[in-house]
Amino acid sequence: MNRILIIGAGGVGRVVLHKCAQHPEIFNEIVFASRTVSKCDAIVADFKDFPKTIPTESVDADNVDSLVDLFERRRPDIVVNVALPYQDLTIMEACLKTGVNYLDTANYEHPDVPKFCYAPQWEMHERFRDAGLTAILGCGFDPGMTNVYVAYARKRLFDRIKTVDIIDCNAGDHGYPFATNFNPEINIREVSANGRYFDQGKWIETRPMEFKRVFNFPDGIGDRDIYLLYHEEMESLTKHYPEIERMRFWMTFGQSYLTHLRVLENVGMTSVKPVLYDGKEIVPLQFLKALLPDPASLGPRTVGKTCIGIWAVGEKDGVPTTKYLYNICDHQASYREVGAQAVSYTTGVPAALGAKMFLSGQWQGHGVFNVEEFDPDPFMNEIGSWGLPWVVETPDVAFE
Ligand code: NDP
Repeated sequence: MNRILIIGAGGVGRVVLHKCAQHPEIFNEIVFASRTVSKCDAIVADFKDFPKTIPTESVDADNVDSLVDLFERRRPDIVVNVALPYQDLTIMEACLKTGVNYLDTANYEHPDVPKFCYAPQWEMHERFRDAGLTAILGCGFDPGMTNVYVAYARKRLFDRIKTVDIIDCNAGDHGYPFATNFNPEINIREVSANGRYFDQGKWIETRPMEFKRVFNFPDGIGDRDIYLLYHEEMESLTKHYPEIERMRFWMTFGQSYLTHLRVLENVGMTSVKPVLYDGKEIVPLQFLKALLPDPASLGPRTVGKTCIGIWAVGEKDGVPTTKYLYNICDHQASYREVGAQAVSYTTGVPAALGAKMFLSGQWQGHGVFNVEEFDPDPFMNEIGSWGLPWVVETPDVAFE
């Protein structure tokens, strides 16, 4: 009897819930919790495809005692944390106190200091190991699927990988002049930070959006501008694959998005430092989040596709080899299936399959792990039928 507890009733939580509900043979019991229980109830009320009732719960995931109380009452085998990165450590603490396994999709962040680093979670490795528990970190798309792609490429397509470029394209159009496809606060913190990439054992820092290329995406998407960003999976991948000499992360942005972002930055609206307004402290970025469209509301109006993948260069059987491994996901097809656009879909599907990998014993180990530390084969064999099929191409052009 497997019991899963999903925390976070946002766009991603909706997808995880749907995908788990589609597999009752694995997820025999599902509990859905969030700070605002009415959001869980509204998502559950949309359900037509799950034969059993899904209990919902209110929990403050910033508070370890509140989490411990919930875990003790519901006794889950695994918690899937799709709340915010701010809650990673409290949820992991509660898991340790109650003997529950853990999975998330984004590394811990402190609300006041955007850092994008795994250290605070990696430091819990011995405690999870000694408790005989498993914590799976970063099991969304990027991080998540991209880490599995690298592990699979290294296992099946290369004898040695020299360079990896992770390329994330959202060619969707929601019709708003400015909106973010997942939590605005987390998204804007990520894209307004300095860029960084790994080269010959060193991290090279760049200004935000300093490096730009044009990349020709498959499946009719065509040429798009991509910009170099720092992204958290590079930290774990360069640690676990020391042979990789250079790793970069690129993301598409349209001109309208960048112009709005520049203006918002220039007037201080993206700052996480509290300011006094009318005698009250407010955080400008949190106020901006309140003004922007809720990402969960973008589903019905977003058309187009996402294309996220890795471009790897190395050797196979002594021959120089290049492979481009990617997924295409259609926003409207995702919406029809689960009521969420493709950015939530591409995050929630790997999280649900990662939980299945753990519950079915295909991913095992005591401690704290990034997904590339597990066998990529069972995940790659199943992810297509779960909704995210992949393609491997052997490009005849270079990407410098
Ligand atoms: P949303 O903001 O839509 O949803 C987050 C949910 O978490 C909200 O419903 C909110 O609750 C809940 N929440 C926030 N704080 C608390 C708390 N203290 N206690 C309980 N619940 C809380 O975000 P998304 O669904 O877009 O993203 C979810 C996660 O997925 C984020 O961590 C994001 O970084 C990650 N992500 C990962 C990606 C990847 O590829 N790896 C890509 C995209 C996102 P409520 O509404 O009930 O108040």
